[in-house]
Amino acid sequence: MLPYPVVSEIEDLLGEGRLSRRAIARQVGVSRWAVDAVATGVRRSGVADGDPDGGQPVYLRCPGCGMRVELPCVYCRTVAYVSRGRLGVAPRARRAA
Ligand SMILES: [Zn+2]
Repeated sequence: MLPYPVVSEIEDLLGEGRLSRRAIARQVGVSRWAVDAVATGVRRSGVADGDPDGGQPVYLRCPGCGMRVELPCVYCRTVAYVSRGRLGVAPRARRAA
C-alpha cells in the first residue's frame, strides 16, 4: 500500500496534467502501475476532506529535489552523502586503461 503522501503527490501531479504517468512514476519514485492505480481510483489518499492533516506528519516541498517530504529531505541528504564518495560508490564506471 502506498503511503498517503505518495498518493497525494501522484494525485497532485496527475491533476496538473503536465507530466505523463511514466514521468510521474519516475519523479515520485514509484512504479508505473502505482500511478495507474491512483489515476483509476483504485488507491485513494483516504483522508476526509474536512481533516486534511488527519494526524499525519507535515510534508513540505523540498527545495533541493522538489518532492514533498518531511524535512530534512532524506533523499537529498542521501544523494549528497553518496556524491561525496562516503559509500565507496564510483560516480562513473571505471574505464579499462
Ligand atoms: Zn529533497
